[in-house]
Amino acid sequence: MQCISTRGGDCVSIAEALQRGLARDGGLYVPERLPQFKVSDFDGAQSLPAVATRMLRPFFDSSPLADAIGAVCNEAFNFAVPLVELPEASSCVLELFHGPTAAFKDIGARFLAACLGRLRDPFAADVTVLAATSGDTGSAVAAAFHQRPGFRVAILFPDGRVSPRQAHLLSCFGDNVASYAVQGSFDDCQSMVKAAFADAELQTHCPLTSANSISLGRLLPQATYYAYSALLYWRLHGALLNFVIPTGNLGNGLAAIYARSMGLPIGDIVLGTNANRVLPDFLATGEYRPAPGIATIANAMDVGAPSNLERLRALFGLHTDLAAQVSATSVTDDCIRARIVRFHAEQGMVICPHTAVAAELLAGLRDRGDRRPWCIVATAHPAKFESVVEPLIGAAVPIPASMRQWLERPAQAQPLAADAAALRHSLLQAD
Ligand SMILES: *Cc1c(COP(=O)(O)O)cnc(C)c1O
Repeated sequence: MQCISTRGGDCVSIAEALQRGLARDGGLYVPERLPQFKVSDFDGAQSLPAVATRMLRPFFDSSPLADAIGAVCNEAFNFAVPLVELPEASSCVLELFHGPTAAFKDIGARFLAACLGRLRDPFAADVTVLAATSGDTGSAVAAAFHQRPGFRVAILFPDGRVSPRQAHLLSCFGDNVASYAVQGSFDDCQSMVKAAFADAELQTHCPLTSANSISLGRLLPQATYYAYSALLYWRLHGALLNFVIPTGNLGNGLAAIYARSMGLPIGDIVLGTNANRVLPDFLATGEYRPAPGIATIANAMDVGAPSNLERLRALFGLHTDLAAQVSATSVTDDCIRARIVRFHAEQGMVICPHTAVAAELLAGLRDRGDRRPWCIVATAHPAKFESVVEPLIGAAVPIPASMRQWLERPAQAQPLAADAAALRHSLLQAD
């Protein structure tokens, strides 16, 4: 399948879209069309890798990955993605955090790594995957490319502005992964990465590739867990499953809309943001006003300019059509805290601050009498945000085994000035 830029000035094969990340005209790649499915197309596909293989195959038709897509899905989705029913009737939680770094970013990062690993020219020089991160993306990308032949990873995170456990996960890999603790903000990290990608001379010595959340290679695999869970629910209950999704850059929300547009049995899609209200305001008014990110306790969603909105607008064109497809509501830190406490007491489950945004919106729907089947999308394990969660529930959150293996490794990040020249120097030195 071909992929076109949201800005209309670039068209490439899907393999090239995955390798490039950002389109050459500055837009985002979108598939030229979304394949259409019926529920029966998935008969006999019971596992996430089986559903994902059928769903993604049409995208990779006649690409070098056409015959490998089953193996890619088996490799990438090798951990549980359980749909857990809650005590409250017709309510469930889709747990996306059982991967190696305990957040849903593992799913997209592992799929992208499995694809890029197979697309790489074995005689070419090593490629450096360069990523700025505000928390979860960096460790998911590092874990996915750790010890993968032909790749090196450089992670930039703002020193002192991620949780201690996040900082450890970002700095514990070693081998082919370099972690830079930047003396600045996340925005500084992002501009350093942008400067490196714009530096053609640097890239002749140190070829770079991107794995950030605008990569189509992270978005497509995310559509598959919506397909998988909605099919599971449909087979068990014969009803459409509605989703309430915590969102920041809109990747996770857009993936759900893609899955529904492909014909999967998905009902309503409700998005929840933290105090960063650019998306809800845009849907309500039709006016897009990007703003500086506001720091909240759901820090992985502290986004003031959701980049995937460009893809959503490309899909629906008119604002009124878009607003009919999806709704979004902002949730304050106080409501997030109160919901973590109540969810623990009423549903017997500890949730992270991001997941609590979705839980809060579902509680509001139930209060207004909505009895339909709803699924809360759980994006991170609560142990990753222990400094917020543990004081609220008054208990320690057990660390999952997958995460413990990283926490037991020593962490070593290199301090780096918030300056493009400093990054350039380090990348060339590592060469
Ligand atoms: C990245 C992230 C989000 C937001 O996902 P988007 O795809 O940017 O909407 C939500 N929760 C957690 C835990 C995350 O790491």
